[in-house]
Amino acid sequence: MAEHRCAVWDQDASLSIESRETTLPGPDEVQVQVHSVGICGSDLHFFRGDFRAAEGLVPGHEISGTISAVGGKVRHVKEGDAVGIEPLLRCGTCASCLVGSYNVCADKGFIGIARDGGMAEYACVPGICAFKTPGDLAGELVTLAEPLACSVHAFNKASLRTGQTVFILGAGSIGLTGVVAAKAMGANVVLQARHPHQQELGRLLGADEVLGEDDASKQRVRELVRLRAVDVALETVGGAGSTLVQAQTVLRPKGKLVVLGTFTGAQAPIHALHLGQNEIEIVGSLAYCADGAKVDYRTAMEIIGDAREQIGAMVTHRFPLEQANAAFETALDKTSRSVKVLIQPVGAS
Ligand SMILES: [Zn+2]
Ligand SMILES: [Zn+2]
Repeated sequence: MAEHRCAVWDQDASLSIESRETTLPGPDEVQVQVHSVGICGSDLHFFRGDFRAAEGLVPGHEISGTISAVGGKVRHVKEGDAVGIEPLLRCGTCASCLVGSYNVCADKGFIGIARDGGMAEYACVPGICAFKTPGDLAGELVTLAEPLACSVHAFNKASLRTGQTVFILGAGSIGLTGVVAAKAMGANVVLQARHPHQQELGRLLGADEVLGEDDASKQRVRELVRLRAVDVALETVGGAGSTLVQAQTVLRPKGKLVVLGTFTGAQAPIHALHLGQNEIEIVGSLAYCADGAKVDYRTAMEIIGDAREQIGAMVTHRFPLEQANAAFETALDKTSRSVKVLIQPVGAS
């Protein structure tokens, strides 16, 4: 029986490289030869030890690759197809799943957290999660469909329309994919980014205005408020800070505040008086699903297919599988100027 290499969580929240038996996919599964897998903020929580990783589990949910085997019941993809993996596990039969809202399935889970993920030469995943890429799109850019789908979903939930103005708080990989998604939907984009390399990338990805934390930027924010210019504010920072207040107060009356950042506490401040007096709407957004006009993940792949040159700039670092720990360190280290760090198992063994 053939074996393949994979990265697995060990006891002390770092990764070990192991050889494991390469199993064939079950009837409803596909086997993917992994080209690239992105490191996400959620993976870093496990690496830092904020959340406890399941020992022996293979992480990785931002997966691109080629179908290397299909289970007997899988019809929509075949061996040799380039695919991206939409990593949401779902029951498929509950009331939420039946209307395409599988991001809130009572049994939802993520590939790479609830079952083995993509930091491996081969991964078996449910066939329903495998999406054939559009046109000739393949390789590392496909990993960006997962974070981009989060932004696509967020703007769908906010009913973003052509010509509206979006203010994005935070320029990590979700904030930056927010720029790409909003531009693809025909919006004007104002990005607030802390670090110079994020500001540069924001401009490259098409943001119409990029603000920092200097006085001129603060002045411009006050002006946007006075002009009642911002229709939708996207909060991507999360944590425990007061960014929701910042995001809500930049909005015009009746504007929409989309909460996409991961908040670590149960509560975060909101300016309640301002909220009521301006009829601000708060929109929660989780991952992606298929309850809009189209599957969010597929929309994200199509956007990448159309904007591959710009969006490719988000990939700042690449590591072979054997250097998985170094890849995580780089993603964690703010001085590395990393945005999206990829692990590329191809040829790593
Ligand atoms: Zn992710
Ligand atoms: Zn369900």
